[in-house]
Amino acid sequence: MILDKLERDVVLGDGGMIFELERRGYVRAGPYTPEVVIQHPQVVKQLHVDFARAGADVIQACAYYAHEEKLRDIGMEGALEEINRTATRLARQVAEEYGILVAGNLCNTWVYDPGDLSTHTETRRQFDEQIRYQESDRTDFFIAETIEYLGEALIALEAIKAAGRTAMITLGFKYQDKTLDGVALEEAFKRLKDAGADIVGINCFRDPEMMLPLAARLRQAVPGYIATQPVAYHCSPDRPYFQAQEIHGDPAFPLELDPFMLTRREMAAYAVQAKEMGIQYIGACCGAGPHHIRAMAEALGRTVPNSRYSPRLELHPIIGSPAHIREKDQRILSEQRGGRQRDKK
Ligand SMILES: [Zn+2]
Repeated sequence: MILDKLERDVVLGDGGMIFELERRGYVRAGPYTPEVVIQHPQVVKQLHVDFARAGADVIQACAYYAHEEKLRDIGMEGALEEINRTATRLARQVAEEYGILVAGNLCNTWVYDPGDLSTHTETRRQFDEQIRYQESDRTDFFIAETIEYLGEALIALEAIKAAGRTAMITLGFKYQDKTLDGVALEEAFKRLKDAGADIVGINCFRDPEMMLPLAARLRQAVPGYIATQPVAYHCSPDRPYFQAQEIHGDPAFPLELDPFMLTRREMAAYAVQAKEMGIQYIGACCGAGPHHIRAMAEALGRTVPNSRYSPRLELHPIIGSPAHIREKDQRILSEQRGGRQRDKK
């Protein structure tokens, strides 16, 4: 179980299923719905395998945006049950093979409006429906993610708890360090903990550098297990979330984010830093692929199934050859000497 696993060691999450599937050509940018799970199940299953072999301890059912509101946008609300059931079944098959856990998935509904009580009932109904279908293949716990309203997060939590399941609730923060319904970060997480959330945390929108300072405040504010699942796209203090990035004066989101991608070393450094901060569930979100997750696992001292293919650059005929290494050393040395001589002038 997830809580026992967290008790023993940090838990490594997976990467961003939807963005990786979009990159591979199987999710449409725009709606970002996961109909691929019924149209090309083998593609989804393979990506679960890729994350499992990269060392993920948990794989998330590919059910992000598999709710009525989003499926209606693409005229597939009739496939709601099949998509949710299949998403969990595919994750379950891979998890069994690798001895890891399956997280069911709930996310922001685009239905919830804090001022309109009827939307609260409707949000709950949609969450209940997804949970019921995803439970057909038994999840180990549920992650409700990318939620920006505390009110909506509390409804997701109630729905998960009503089903008798362990709940991980992660909120998303763009510019502000409060929820869209105006609750300060610390207060929001305290309320989620008080309402019974087993794991709380932050996911999506921000890169590790922009997310970890918020996670440090969360760490201070509440006891218990904490999660971070940042995006693997560089952000900055003036543009702290990835949808705000620009390229040649135009928005880079979502089709021109490639130059912003974090390297595997940067994601590995994040994993180590998160562990040092007392974060127990260390995962990733949009943009993070299997190579990031393997680097994170190895930085945490683990050897994972695909470590058998991890870099051994000394075996490369050019960059790994002794002559190349000597030449590089000499170049650096002569550059340093040149620098010193210029300094003397
Ligand atoms: Zn994301």
